Amino acid sequence: MADAALTVIGGGAVGLAIAAELSRRHAPLYVLERNPKYGQETSSRNSEVIHAGIYYANGSLKARLCVEGNRLLYGICGRHNIPHRRITKIITATRPSEESELRRLRALGEGNGVTLRMMTAAEVSALEPQIVTAGGLFSPDTGIISAHALMDYYYSTAREQGAVVQTRCTVVAVERRSNDYLITVSEGGERSTITSERVINAAGLESDTIASLAGIDVDREGYRLHYSRGCYFSLPASLSACVSRLVYPVPTDETLGVHAVVDLGGRLKFGPDIEYQEDRVADYRVDEKKRDAFGASVRRILPHVRDEDLTPDICGIRPKLQGPGEPARDFLIREESGRGLPGFINLVGIDSPGLTASPAIAKYVGEML
Ligand SMILES: Cc1cc2nc3c(=O)[nH]c(=O)nc-3n(C[C@H](O)[C@H](O)[C@H](O)COP(=O)(O)OP(=O)(O)OC[C@H]3O[C@@H](n4cnc5c(N)ncnc54)[C@H](O)[C@@H]3O)c2cc1C
Repeated sequence: MADAALTVIGGGAVGLAIAAELSRRHAPLYVLERNPKYGQETSSRNSEVIHAGIYYANGSLKARLCVEGNRLLYGICGRHNIPHRRITKIITATRPSEESELRRLRALGEGNGVTLRMMTAAEVSALEPQIVTAGGLFSPDTGIISAHALMDYYYSTAREQGAVVQTRCTVVAVERRSNDYLITVSEGGERSTITSERVINAAGLESDTIASLAGIDVDREGYRLHYSRGCYFSLPASLSACVSRLVYPVPTDETLGVHAVVDLGGRLKFGPDIEYQEDRVADYRVDEKKRDAFGASVRRILPHVRDEDLTPDICGIRPKLQGPGEPARDFLIREESGRGLPGFINLVGIDSPGLTASPAIAKYVGEML
């Protein structure tokens, strides 16, 4: 008999949500995480926005799992006292020529089942007097959440249901055997193995590496990840009250645009920008030299913000399936029996809105097993 019924590789929001959802049904369940604590990578380096599901292609996994995740998250937060606020959001057209883009977004979002309302410039200004606007799109169901508190909840639920979360434990090999998987891990330089009937690859920025260790040709199958850095700059507390909800510009092809993110403590930061990395080094430094470019992006929305008001803040790295200039790709969530890997599920390219979608992704994976 295998050591584990199910092993989840990666203790980020997605891996932990899966462990919380499945540990009752699939025992013993192991989560293997390379860092000293869970949730130290992308899941704690993001905007902490509960997205409504506006931007994603109708029928895509991103759209379906974001809309369902939004509903599930508000329920989880309410029942388990996870800090959050349904703070709402405005996408503002900064000039009249962008209004057609707002209408396109409204049609896209409503096609995903999202509640949205067009606003005149006067209506936007009544809510947010300091922002530049020629009209807006209002999302009542967009919110903010403490990502750490959400992961603490997933973690304790999984633990209470018997899951073992093994930290400082890096997966270095995965081998399919006749009835199970042999997983080799490195802990403090020491190698050991664990056998598991089924495996879920939720390894975030290394999910393509894990797929490759399991024998998948990631270049041929389109699983190869590109690292795309997203940095933030923050405003001092004295200026943080200049908006009271999330304010976004109209998105570009590649990002949602540098937006105003209010956190649960009332702090205001702007970001993320987008910068593809040539290499795969996880470099989270925020270069002061970006300040001028950030200042210019922020002033599209809030003209009174000066470059010198902005302080470098956090950086996160998006695990993107598309390279620079390529069309957006959907989440890749696949059971790999067809590739000779029964009971092996890959989750690759779980970029935004992966935090929002995490409880819905967990249910979706549960149905696949
Ligand atoms: C700048 C930015 C802003 C974002 N904003 C939002 C937002 O506002 N709302 C939203 O919904 N989403 C947002 N996202 C997306 C969201 O953060 C991610 O989709 C989500 O955190 C992905 O979670 P994960 O568990 O898949 O990945 P991760 O959090 O990266 O977890 C994967 C884990 O796997 C571990 N791991 C990797 N390799 C191994 C190995 N070999 N062995 C063992 N463990 C391993 C890692 O240490 C890591 O802890 C944003 C992302 C970025 C970068």
